[in-house]
Amino acid sequence: MAVSLFDLFKVGIGPSSSHTVGPMLAAQKFAQQLLTGKKLNQVAKLSCHLYGSLGATGKGHGTGEAVLMGLEGSLPETIDPDTVNERVSRIKHQQSLALLQQHPIPFSIDSDLIFYRRESLAYHANGMKLQAYDDAQQLLLEKVYYSVGGGFVVQENDQGEIQIVEDTTELPFAFHSCAELLALCSQHKMTIAEIVLENEKVWRTEAEIRAGILSLWQTMKACIDKGMRSEGTLPGGLKVKRRAASLYRDLNQKTAMDMITPSLGAMDWVNLYALAVNEENAGGGRIVTAPTNGAAGIIPAVLNYYCDFCPRSDKDGIIKFMLTATAIGSLFKENASISGAEVGCQGEVGSACAMAAAGLAAATGGSPAQIENAAEIGMEHNLGLTCDPIGGLVQVPCIERNAMAAMKAINSASMALRGDGTHYVSLDKVIKTMRDTGRDMNDKYKETSRGGLAVNVIEC
Ligand code: SF4
Repeated sequence: MAVSLFDLFKVGIGPSSSHTVGPMLAAQKFAQQLLTGKKLNQVAKLSCHLYGSLGATGKGHGTGEAVLMGLEGSLPETIDPDTVNERVSRIKHQQSLALLQQHPIPFSIDSDLIFYRRESLAYHANGMKLQAYDDAQQLLLEKVYYSVGGGFVVQENDQGEIQIVEDTTELPFAFHSCAELLALCSQHKMTIAEIVLENEKVWRTEAEIRAGILSLWQTMKACIDKGMRSEGTLPGGLKVKRRAASLYRDLNQKTAMDMITPSLGAMDWVNLYALAVNEENAGGGRIVTAPTNGAAGIIPAVLNYYCDFCPRSDKDGIIKFMLTATAIGSLFKENASISGAEVGCQGEVGSACAMAAAGLAAATGGSPAQIENAAEIGMEHNLGLTCDPIGGLVQVPCIERNAMAAMKAINSASMALRGDGTHYVSLDKVIKTMRDTGRDMNDKYKETSRGGLAVNVIEC
């Protein structure tokens, strides 16, 4: 399976890649399928059924809103996040939506958007079924989609089989494990970033790749900046106060806290960057999946740390960071999962931590072996991490967890760079362990909000 950097890192909106970005894409695809089948103008009624984790936590994750926006033709990359609330409220009050902005139909958010809290579809925890009927109540089209994490969507065919349209592009340096990747580096005397760059060139020119990476970084940076300046409480009912803005003010003034952490000054800034991104994510803002939305603060925080605190940081370093993180992310995606609904938070925050650790190690001059070691440390110490968001919102523990994982990634890179790359547990073994641990994990810890903090903390 060939995974491009631009598949792993996609511009979308918060709060969740699997619960917001994926469902919006699926709904938009459904409306497009109606259009290409010349059935769009016959639609008189739509039913949207959300199952498994989408049913259990979809309300808190904005899944319903995402489906409505997708049906109206919006895409995560281009939708203006600031217009969503107004559009949803219009649909609610007028009891009508416009399929692909072309064909208005009656639509009741209360009865046509159905969340099944305890039912799941067969293939994956994030299932959704969309049905369109004509005015004689005849079924025009029914499709089942699965949002499998990181904004990736797969679809069932008419026989109920999964159609995974894998990119089968032949890569010049294909690898399916980190051992194979390290062997390629050694055989061709190339870095991990160089290997990934050559692979990316099957889809784009080098100039497009470099420009695309820097553009993703600008989107991440804009998200940090917006989060650092946004005040108030986050939506959803938990009344979680945004704190990035006040932390930013504190860090620009000398406060009593500087007496406590004089030698860890950078840590406060890394915390700030991650909090800023994840508060923006929780508020439904513009986000880059990295590799998911719930874990979207870790890579920007560590990359911003590289830019602000590492001597000799430059654009080449940013590009190396992102290419290397892609190699590690593709291994998690291929050999385990990056979906919290499938393997718990270890698949989201753990994968992002490992990707960030590897990226930082690469940007600061680490060898392939040291980079592999950094990624391995970053994942190893997130093994077993459960997903139990309170109220089904991507807020508690998610926002702080990104800050913790960003610091863990920096520490992982630091430890690896102070060694020679030899170590006891390989990244491949840790990825396999993450997959096995996720398989054994009780479903209540996989983005259902039926276990852990989600049941032990009373929502107020
Ligand atoms: S606990 Fe982790 S996996 Fe679950 S929603 Fe939060 S960030 Fe995502």
